[in-house]
Amino acid sequence: MSEVLEGECLCGAIKYRVEAAPIVSGACYCGDCQKTSGGAEAHGMMFPAPAVTIVDGEPKTFGLTVDSGNVVFRQFCPDCGVHVISWNSAAPEYKAIKVGTLNDPSVYRSQGSLWVSSAQPWHRPDPDLPQHPKMPCVADLSATG
Ligand SMILES: [Zn+2]
Ligand SMILES: [Zn+2]
Repeated sequence: MSEVLEGECLCGAIKYRVEAAPIVSGACYCGDCQKTSGGAEAHGMMFPAPAVTIVDGEPKTFGLTVDSGNVVFRQFCPDCGVHVISWNSAAPEYKAIKVGTLNDPSVYRSQGSLWVSSAQPWHRPDPDLPQHPKMPCVADLSATG
């Protein structure tokens, strides 16, 4: 996979670049991702935080305290509302990008499904990939792929 990835929000006001290979990639079925996606699972790729840079525009950042007590930060375009980048206060050394915002989303390869305990009956997690009831640690995820 290319070591440089680029993406943008729907209107193009926010552009980002990633200069690293993904640490882990997967689909999240948690209730919060269902809300931000509009219903579907959220496909994401996680990178070392310093490798993810905003190269154009000023995203807004929304922080939400989740059940663990950690804060999940989501960065989104203030114009079109599309969510591009997120990270967790428990692991700020990583940042995840939303796969659908990549200029070439075809580079994505899911390594597993997260939070399938929250998946809707009409969600169909990939039966050929590991399914995690909640959020496993990053080391576990990396080991799967
Ligand atoms: Zn936008
Ligand atoms: Zn989620």
